[in-house]
Order: sequence, then C-alpha cells, then structure tokens
Amino acid sequence: LCVLGVESSCDETAVSVVRKRGGQVEVLSSVIHSQIAAHAVYGGVVPEIAARSHVETIDDLCRRALSEAKTKGFDEAELDAVAATAGPGLIGGVMVGLSFAKGFALARGLPLIGVNHLEGHALSPLLAEPVAFPYLLLLVSGGHCQLLNVRGVGDYERLGTTIDDAAGEAFDKIAKVLGLGYPGGPALEKCAAEGDATRFVLPRALLGRKDCDFSFSGLKTAAAKVATDQVKTPQDRADLCASVQAAIARQLCERSERAMTAFTHGNTKPAFVVAGGVAANKTVRAELTKLADKHGFRFVAPPMAYCTDNAAMIALAGLERFSLMDADERSDMMGSMATVARPRWPLDEAAATASPVHK
Ligand code: ATP
Ligand code: MG
Ligand code: FE
Repeated sequence: LCVLGVESSCDETAVSVVRKRGGQVEVLSSVIHSQIAAHAVYGGVVPEIAARSHVETIDDLCRRALSEAKTKGFDEAELDAVAATAGPGLIGGVMVGLSFAKGFALARGLPLIGVNHLEGHALSPLLAEPVAFPYLLLLVSGGHCQLLNVRGVGDYERLGTTIDDAAGEAFDKIAKVLGLGYPGGPALEKCAAEGDATRFVLPRALLGRKDCDFSFSGLKTAAAKVATDQVKTPQDRADLCASVQAAIARQLCERSERAMTAFTHGNTKPAFVVAGGVAANKTVRAELTKLADKHGFRFVAPPMAYCTDNAAMIALAGLERFSLMDADERSDMMGSMATVARPRWPLDEAAATASPVHK
C-alpha cells in the first residue's frame, strides 16, 4: 500500500509519501515547512498566521513530496489513498490541510482518510523500526502530555493526561518568563546546561494521587515567582532552568513509573516509547531510559524528525487504517468530502476508531 499524508494541525505544514510492502515501512518523502520564524516575534503560535501560512505553502510542499518520492522509484499511480490530519488542532490550519487533501483525492478518484493527529504520534515509532504491540507510549509535545497503552492500530487506552499544561507548554511558558524566546524548550535546555539543578526547590504536583495524570501549572507559577524574587544573575537563571528541567523530568518519570507497574502485556520485553518534541530533551531522555531499564522495558525514541510534527506519521496512520477496511468501507471513503475537521478529538474516544464523517 502507498499513501500520501498531509499535516497542518499546528505550526508545521507537511506532506509525505509512505509505502508499506511485505510488512516493511518505507518513507519515500517527508517534507516539512516550519513556521517558527513567523510566530517567534509573538512569543507563541498565532492561529490566524498559521492558517494563512499553510495555505501559502501546501501546494508547493505537495509537489516537492511527490517529486522527491519519484526519485526513489515511486509512481503517482501507486497511490491507494490520501490521509490528512482531521484534528485535534488549530481548526483553521486543520481545515486547510484537510481541504487540500480532499481536492487531491477527488481529482484522482482516491479515498480520503481523516486521521487523528494523536494516532499519528502514537504510531510514529513504526516509521523507523518494528515495535511489537502492545507498547507503552509517553507522548510529550507542545500541546499534549499523555500516557497511552497502544494495544494495536485503532486500539488505544489513555492511562493519564495533563490536567492543565502540556510538558512542552511548561518549558515554553517558563522560558518566556525568563526571556529565553520561542520555542522555549531548546533554549531552556541550553541555559540549564550551565546550572545547578539542586539550587531551587520546586513543587511536586499530584503527589498523593495514584493515577497517571500530570500537572505543570504549579511548577510554572513557582518558577515565575523564583524568577522575579531570586534571579539576578545569569548563574541564577541557569540554576533555575536546571531546576525546572529536573522537576519536569522527575514528574514524567514518576507517572511513567506508575504506568509501567500497571502495564499488562504478553511481551517478554515491551517497549516504552517516548514521542513528541520534549523527547529531544537530553535530561528527560536520560532519566526515562534509566526508568525503562529498571522496569524491564525497551526504551524507544523515534528519530527527532518523526517526534515533532510531520506528515509521514499521518500517512502511516492512514495507511494502517486503510489496510483494516473492507471493500465497502473503502468505497465509502472515495473522495470522502464529508470528513470534518475537529478542534478536539480524544484518541480513546469511540469516534477515534473511524474517520469522522457527517451523517
Ligand atoms: P501537539 O502534537 O500536541 O499538537 P506539537 O506537535 O506542536 O504539539 P511538537 O512539535 O511535538 O509539538 O513539540 C514542540 C514542543 O517540544 C515545544 O513545546 C518545544 O518547546 C518542546 N521541545 C522541543 N525541543 C525541546 C527540548 N530540547 N527540551 C524541551 N522541550 C523541547
Ligand atoms: Mg510544532
Ligand atoms: Fe503534534
């Protein structure tokens, strides 16, 4: 099977061609246009600017994705379906990518599959290497912080989620308070390298709870207070960055540990997958690797290009969905103009198992 994927849910426009033959996944192309520069001056993503930028770039990106795939022996006639993120995300952006994909599918008489962006992240490790189901997934991105039991394609159990900010959002907001710019995660990590992580004692959230939920807003408030009261020198700032980074890593470990303890599986050594932009953080990665070792899990972090937003993961999720459909379902998807964009779409919701279609 061969699928063209389109992603436009946030501040990355992306198009990719993915093929699966004999159980082997091949990413034939994965082109991405990041809008970071356009949003940096505002200190965060501006939805209106994002949607416009998607409109301006998507056509050209699609052409590039197709021609790059052709250099690897791909022929457009091979395409079996078109997949596009249908949510969750910034609705204006989602609509741009989804509408583009509808037009592309309609013009070629191909089925259109609306993909849940989180399902893309959940299946992203499979772009790089085979991973046996079920696996435990920690999804730590700019908008999400969740622990999921990935039992199979279309079979996700959410074990925990953040009750306020996402981990990446915490990095970004604290970095902003410290004047480190956007996106804050990489900037905060760089500053933390010179700091003492034991200098400031920061609050630990939801300590008494036995679930796998996360909370970062208390940490954000505490860090902002330390920043105004005690940060006078560059060394103070580095120490605060290091303390914040350690606190975030610790919380990710504490909740992941609970999930690992409760995780039932038939695998001798199940995988613990960390995906999303925060997986780039070296301290976070090192702590989670130690934790996985301790609990007998194989630590898997997809290559960074597949951790942050990309269309290859959307194409793969669409491809896996498509392979599970029977002939009737497939013909129902032909140029499926009724697929709707959804700003909110929880992965474990019943509707997440099917492309959202207006009845
Ligand atoms: P979502 O999938 O939830 O809609 P997103 O896809 O936009 O969000 P990603 O692109 O996966 O999110 O990740 C971006 C986030 O990762 C930002 O919050 C950024 O600060 C954070 N991040 C990136 N690199 C690092 C790093 N080295 N350390 C900490 N955080 C980082
Ligand atoms: Mg992004
Ligand atoms: Fe994402």
